[in-house]
Amino acid sequence: MQEVLLLKCGELVLKGLNRRRFEDKLIRTVKDRMKRIGEFDIWYMQSTIYVEPMNADVDMEAALQAAVRIFGINSVSKAVFCAKDMDEIKKTAEAYLGERLENTRTFKVDAKRADKKFPLGSPEIGREVGGYLAELHPNLKAQMHDPEVTIMVEIRDKGAYISWERLRGAGGMPVGSNGRAMLLLSGGIDSPVAGHMMAKRGLELGAVHYYSYPYTSQEALDKVLHLAEILTNYTGKLTVSTVPFTEIQLEIQKHCHEDYFTIIMRRFMMRIAQRVAEIQNCGALITGESLGQVASQTMEAMTCTQAVCTIPVFRPCVGLDKEEIVDRARAIGTFETSSLPYEDCCTVFTPKHPQTKPKLAKVEEEESKLDVEGLIERALAGVHRTTLG
Ligand code: ATP
Ligand code: MG
Repeated sequence: MQEVLLLKCGELVLKGLNRRRFEDKLIRTVKDRMKRIGEFDIWYMQSTIYVEPMNADVDMEAALQAAVRIFGINSVSKAVFCAKDMDEIKKTAEAYLGERLENTRTFKVDAKRADKKFPLGSPEIGREVGGYLAELHPNLKAQMHDPEVTIMVEIRDKGAYISWERLRGAGGMPVGSNGRAMLLLSGGIDSPVAGHMMAKRGLELGAVHYYSYPYTSQEALDKVLHLAEILTNYTGKLTVSTVPFTEIQLEIQKHCHEDYFTIIMRRFMMRIAQRVAEIQNCGALITGESLGQVASQTMEAMTCTQAVCTIPVFRPCVGLDKEEIVDRARAIGTFETSSLPYEDCCTVFTPKHPQTKPKLAKVEEEESKLDVEGLIERALAGVHRTTLG
């Protein structure tokens, strides 16, 4: 029996005039993700995206796992379809679910009649199919409130769809529906989570990563690319721009007071990220900062790093505890990779007493000892792009 997936769209339903654009984005995303798994016929009707495999050996479990990661989808269910005929519907329900119903005690059948020309109303469809199944399985008892199993029968234009489990979708808005933003992606735990959270709000991502060869290793760089690869399960194609950062760090170390090292370094990161963002058509930056987590993430430090940006900086982890961020990292599958012990460029030159309350004027004074523009230009000249997903 050929299974299909039914993907129910979420928030976009509410978006009035933008609805059409959102739907198009979402359908394109679904097609793009399913292409990795096999050949599917994909179409949209009545707030549902139908994903039908073109041949029998497609891995439907993999398709299901990909579908629950697509932002803009509220729920996903596997279903089978048959002709819009009550006898067909009952027989198909039994063939598809009969075996699983053997070990079930309470159930109900929820019917939905999207095709108003169908002769029976929703309650009658539910009653008839429920009665038929209860007769075949004496262990079954109909229970309207909180049954073990809810079987869904939906009468739609093309046919009748019968499904059981409805999995919760990723929610949020279709990637790209709110524009593009540039994620500052370190090898740490926080920034992949930040990227995931903002992609959920409909942002298409680019990523920028700073590395300090030879102080940081090839393994550290590979780890970041691996994190980006995991993120593509949610974001689709993702281009990582890797930026050589050693000269900048050595120059800061040589010319500026040690206490200001981190904050000045972070200002360079923000400036360069903004340049890369402009080139790649991104309207905002995203970081994994969380208030007070380290010296460079106090309010005063953020004032100093924010000061070099003219586009918004989104910090979705700002109000999360480390434990909450870790939970999210585990849930999206980045935690293990993030925990690999390779040095990040931030940790290589960490000062002993970083300023937790830096004054912007003092930071600017220290920074004036550097050829800021020249350093940025040379770093940008060394950018290398890798596209994943
Ligand atoms: P993370 O766990 O994401 O590494 P963190 O707690 O280690 O964060 P910091 O090292 O202070 O925090 O970095 C704060 C933010 O700055 C990171 O979340 C990330 O967005 C950005 N960042 C830090 N290092 C890099 C890097 N090497 N390349 C790109 N962005 C970086
Ligand atoms: Mg870090």
